[in-house]
Amino acid sequence: MPSLDEFANAKLASLEQRQLRRTLVETDRRDGAVAYRDGRRMISFSCNDYLNLSHHPDVIRAASEANERYGVGSGGSRLVTGNHPLFRELETRLAKLKGADDACVFGSGYLANMGIIPTLIGPEDMILADELSHACILSGGVISKARLLIFRHNDLDHLDALLAEHRENHPRALIVTDGVFSMDGDLAPVPAMADLADRYDAWLMTDDAHGIGVLGGGHGSTHAMGADGRVPLQMGTLSKAIGCYGGYLCAAQPVIDLMRTRSRTFIYSTGLQPSAAAAALKALDLIEADPAFAAAPMAKAALFCSLTGLPAPESTIVPILLGDPMRTLAASTMLAEEGYIVTAIRPPTVPEGTARLRFTFTAGHDDADIRRLADIVTTRILT
Ligand SMILES: *Cc1c(COP(=O)(O)O)cnc(C)c1O
Repeated sequence: MPSLDEFANAKLASLEQRQLRRTLVETDRRDGAVAYRDGRRMISFSCNDYLNLSHHPDVIRAASEANERYGVGSGGSRLVTGNHPLFRELETRLAKLKGADDACVFGSGYLANMGIIPTLIGPEDMILADELSHACILSGGVISKARLLIFRHNDLDHLDALLAEHRENHPRALIVTDGVFSMDGDLAPVPAMADLADRYDAWLMTDDAHGIGVLGGGHGSTHAMGADGRVPLQMGTLSKAIGCYGGYLCAAQPVIDLMRTRSRTFIYSTGLQPSAAAAALKALDLIEADPAFAAAPMAKAALFCSLTGLPAPESTIVPILLGDPMRTLAASTMLAEEGYIVTAIRPPTVPEGTARLRFTFTAGHDDADIRRLADIVTTRILT
């Protein structure tokens, strides 16, 4: 066997042994809540399409019209092929939603973090990141070659202590955190972090992938926490509640101009399809037109938590920590037999010993399904 294949096989076998091998399950997703597996209709509680906008007829129509008119690809980097007017319009709208001067749209949220962080922070600088920050924040930190210091989850005293000890040794410091933690569903203490950032002249960046569209009337977690104007770097994705694809940064004009000039994932990667921009614009129309619509997924999550006796949710993500990967997989399999897709989240996505079921709630879920799911969870998992 060629050494490459041998390497891959050995690696897979070792992961398999630890129950950490991942496989794709063929799933025909019909909207935010309904999916078919092996011809069987299931209700998904594992989808980030919180407002079901990926299947909203108006959003689909906007994308289809853009595809017909502009084609399915953008032909190259926006700096090379030219900037499609839809991108300009989308950036203006995102900036307005987030209360920033301007925005820069990237190919995805992952690409955004990989591009933003090294553009601002270099080898002599430091980054302070929450230990539960999303993988792409840490990837962006690593490629910046800055000193990467990890603070305990949402621990302001630890963050303060690290700043006190190390800030003066570095010309620039970036504090970065998920606004809504993707695997835990809790919020970062953004206003207090902004105070620390001010005190130590550090730059604060939040990743609001799971906040935009569903928290703070659709404006996101910063707005929900009353911290408008206090986060100079507001990053997020169009791939979750916005229902399509792409990432963004909202910031002051010089920061955005610098991104467009220097960010490698912006410069050297092909622009989004024009239809993704058209779809996102339509999605933003729908969100801004109806604050009750934006709030619907939170209400569903709250219903589930009250029925199961869990603490009130801070976001549309509700984890149930089971600890052991095997037990978590078994619970996920049991729920699938009952017709519910609830993914088992295991290390290394989450820390060792914190394997969990992760439930996400969307505007499209029926209360009856939530009640039945809560009943199964209460009687067969939380016992
Ligand atoms: C999903 C997610 C991303 C990545 O966004 P994509 O657009 O899917 O690449 C980044 N950060 C957080 C916190 C996320 O949950």
